[in-house]
Amino acid sequence: MLAGRKECFWSIIRGQLATFLEILKIVNRKTPKVGFVSLGCPKALVDSERILTRLRAEGYEVAGSFAAADLVVVNTCGFIDAAVDESLDAIGEALAENGKVIVTGCLGAQPQKILDRHPQVLKITGPQRYEEVVASVHEYLPPVHEPFLDLVPAQGVRLTPRHYAYLKISEGCNHRCSFCIIPSMRGPLVSRPIGEVLREAEHLARAGVKEILVISQDTSAYGVDLKYAAQPWRGVERRTRFYDLAAALSELGVWIRLHYVYPYPHVDQVVELMADGGVLPYLDIPFQHASTRILKLMKRPAAATNTLARIAAWRRVTPDIAIRSTFIVGFPGETEREFVELLDWLREAQLDRVGCFEYSAVEGAAANALRQPAVPAEIKAERRARFMELSAQISAARLAQKVGRRMPVLIDAVDGDIAVARSSADAPEIDGTVRIHGAKGLKVGALAQVRITAAGAYDLEAELAQLS
Ligand code: SF4
Repeated sequence: MLAGRKECFWSIIRGQLATFLEILKIVNRKTPKVGFVSLGCPKALVDSERILTRLRAEGYEVAGSFAAADLVVVNTCGFIDAAVDESLDAIGEALAENGKVIVTGCLGAQPQKILDRHPQVLKITGPQRYEEVVASVHEYLPPVHEPFLDLVPAQGVRLTPRHYAYLKISEGCNHRCSFCIIPSMRGPLVSRPIGEVLREAEHLARAGVKEILVISQDTSAYGVDLKYAAQPWRGVERRTRFYDLAAALSELGVWIRLHYVYPYPHVDQVVELMADGGVLPYLDIPFQHASTRILKLMKRPAAATNTLARIAAWRRVTPDIAIRSTFIVGFPGETEREFVELLDWLREAQLDRVGCFEYSAVEGAAANALRQPAVPAEIKAERRARFMELSAQISAARLAQKVGRRMPVLIDAVDGDIAVARSSADAPEIDGTVRIHGAKGLKVGALAQVRITAAGAYDLEAELAQLS
């Protein structure tokens, strides 16, 4: 009887030892490590996140340096010449420091450009080719499947801080703006069905994300390609359409920020949602210019819209709305009069946030074939400086009106007594910030109420009023 008990005891110990050794073997097994360089716009960043999520789910680790990686993926940008150069340099650096490099992203649509400079890259794939990137990684660095270790956070792998995330709702674009080669690189508009987008947004909110930034090439065109097909979400049929998406997202109880919106008529309805507080009063609309002739040469969507009247109407409905936009100066054929027309337009539009680029001819863009005289480089630079000077004055005047007001902000960083936060008027990376004094105890990702104490050209100073 005793001998039987002893045997049983030892067999349990032997069993546990075997399990322990098995776990030890798993832990010591070399996990394949992938280095990742993500260049370009937030849309490319979301592509990177998808690839990384998939790789992490398969047991790959993300290396913190080229030297620590077994292989490097470079997600490139090919939007303008400067971005192409940056991408080619990044590939060169990864090759020099690691040697095994897979290239993807927008520049991947022009493989010869990459091979001319870096013939030793292992593989090149174009934008949105997640499957091909992952298959290439498998080929050169096979996965080690281990369910104990293949843990991925519910919200996937994100390259943004935990409290905000980009939500990509579509790929490609149906427009043919003459300065842009994105449609030839990324193809026509392909919307994600609304159910899929809303499920992802719900996951993000559940995982603690406080701000969701909706991105695409043309957010207001969302669903056109799917003929606005409906899908159920939370027991209600929702159509794959810009307004329906914004309305459903507003139910999640987190900040919703809309980027890359064009001034189509149905945007007015979305501005009403902003007035109700469900969506942040923030519109990112790339106007690009104000002269009708230049807009037509640019082949811009809604070139003939009276944008000043639209902006005035939106401000009547949602007085706090912050409007951000980007512009191009020095487009081929732009005269001094047309540029002054743009300045006059900006003076009247009183946009809150603007970015301005000097026109640069991108290889393959239709604008290169326009029979219009090129604007000399020094005039482009001078026009940009004049434009930015005016926009800084407008921004400073608009921000000064906020002094003394109370507003909610989202905390991005805390350093001792100072916190850096953003208000509804500030998208991460591209807009201004709110510096909070006396911020001890505040946590990154928290919402707080502040009182604005001072304003600069782009940023605000504040004191803490209360934690939300
Ligand atoms: S709307 Fe115009 S600028 Fe924007 S992605 Fe489409 S073609 Fe390019």
